[in-house]
Amino acid sequence: LIQLYIPLNFLGVMYREMKQAFIDMEKMFKLLSENREVQDKPNAPAVKITGAAIAFENVDFSYDGRRQILQGVSFEVPAGHTVAVVGASGSGKSTLARLLFRFYDVQQGRITIDGQDLRDVTQASVRAAMGIVPQDTVLFNDTIYYNIAYGRPGSTREEIVAAAEVAHIREFIERQPDGWETTVGERGLKLSGGEKQRVSIARTMLKNPPILIFDEATSALDSKTEKSIQGELRQIARDRSALVIAHRLSTVVDADAILVMHDGRIIERGSFRDLMAQDGRFAEMWRLQQEEDRHRIVEASVL
Ligand code: ADP
Ligand code: MG
Repeated sequence: LIQLYIPLNFLGVMYREMKQAFIDMEKMFKLLSENREVQDKPNAPAVKITGAAIAFENVDFSYDGRRQILQGVSFEVPAGHTVAVVGASGSGKSTLARLLFRFYDVQQGRITIDGQDLRDVTQASVRAAMGIVPQDTVLFNDTIYYNIAYGRPGSTREEIVAAAEVAHIREFIERQPDGWETTVGERGLKLSGGEKQRVSIARTMLKNPPILIFDEATSALDSKTEKSIQGELRQIARDRSALVIAHRLSTVVDADAILVMHDGRIIERGSFRDLMAQDGRFAEMWRLQQEEDRHRIVEASVL
């Protein structure tokens, strides 16, 4: 019986591990399945990054070939600049990020990095040059250490700890009973939206890419956490080319340029001052958000 028990117990452990591996694999495939849309050309070279200048030139895009999502979108992110994108939900902001990351290829026009069409270089090299802090970070059912190290396999412990420090998550990690060995994800410690975003920022810091894409989802955070995350993001974006999708307009005040999206088109563009002076859609959005903030403050002080 003992002889039987041991292998069965062993199989049980194996099964549990495999099941977990499959769940993580499933997640990976779910993430990767979006890539099926994109095929590298035979013998495509890797993208050559010089300054990491980004350009969208007359880009049209549809997910299903019927409903047009982006129409005639053109803009540039000069090397080392930060361009912010604002606009109502569904206006196509995240689609810009997905196209830049080459989850999909454009149907009309082109997207270039340092003059190279994304379709002429390998998808892998494009992704290696970019760090994304997405709206919703996927965590693996593994240790927090692994989850950050994933940003750049082969990093040293010092580098990983330093990245966590910059992302303001080191203290939180070291406060856990199991510290860096704490399991996170669905079957481990549940992290809040803000904590997950910090893990994602730490991963990106570790990766240290020349191009950054932030799809901010800070509206669910309290304003103190939100402010500190925004500060971190600004810090990281310095000296890099960054596309920042902003849900909170206060984020965009310092951007080199702001694009206002509406129904898949850029309807206004310029610096914060330009757009306020134009007194168009952006100025209107700004006033509305200020108004909402005032209400929130009044509510908070009443409660
Ligand atoms: P935003 O980030 O500005 O809220 P998105 O870029 O996510 O907007 O979406 C723009 C439009 O594209 C929306 O109408 C959305 O429903 C649609 N869309 C987004 N992703 C997909 C998809 N994978 N397949 C089909 N339609 C999509
Ligand atoms: Mg979005």
